Amino acid sequence: MKTFFSYLQKWKAIYRALMLLLEKEEIAHCTFPGCNKAYHTTPPTKMPAFCDDHKWPVLSKCFFCGDDLLHSGDADECSLCGMSIFNVKSDVALLFFTLEYFPDRLKSLESIGSIYYDFISERHKKKKEYFPLLRRERIGAGIKTFVDPVFFKRCDNECRDLGRWVEQHLNNEIKAYLIKIGKWSE
Ligand SMILES: [Zn+2]
Ligand SMILES: [Zn+2]
Repeated sequence: MKTFFSYLQKWKAIYRALMLLLEKEEIAHCTFPGCNKAYHTTPPTKMPAFCDDHKWPVLSKCFFCGDDLLHSGDADECSLCGMSIFNVKSDVALLFFTLEYFPDRLKSLESIGSIYYDFISERHKKKKEYFPLLRRERIGAGIKTFVDPVFFKRCDNECRDLGRWVEQHLNNEIKAYLIKIGKWSE
């Protein structure tokens, strides 16, 4: 009886280790507000650029630390830096795609302060790593036929003064991250 029990325990341990490995697979999050859907990013050819349900772009990296997003059950935090992906994903998508659709709005970002500006432009330079959609399509008519028209409208209308919009939506989160990693200086 005892042998059978320890045999069972051993298999249970192996099963759990396997599950943990599986859970650590890289994923991309739908950026639609409130959507919990995540897509596996391996193999990369199978990675979708959009959420099937919402047609909003998927985000495959943590906006803050740039780490690949890992599956972590119900937790919506980045497994490396601990910042919430869920809270910022829609805003990050709106920001990156506004810059894609309306590149002239980049200028209005100069008002947000150099700490924030540098933080965003550093990440924006690697935009293709964050959004698989930006890897596939050149900006123009093509991209707009795939995305939810509401997403495009929000980029157009909400983010007219992009600098002010970023101040209202992302600056606090960026500051919180910089404080967290000890890189905040007033
Ligand atoms: Zn979705
Ligand atoms: Zn992170």
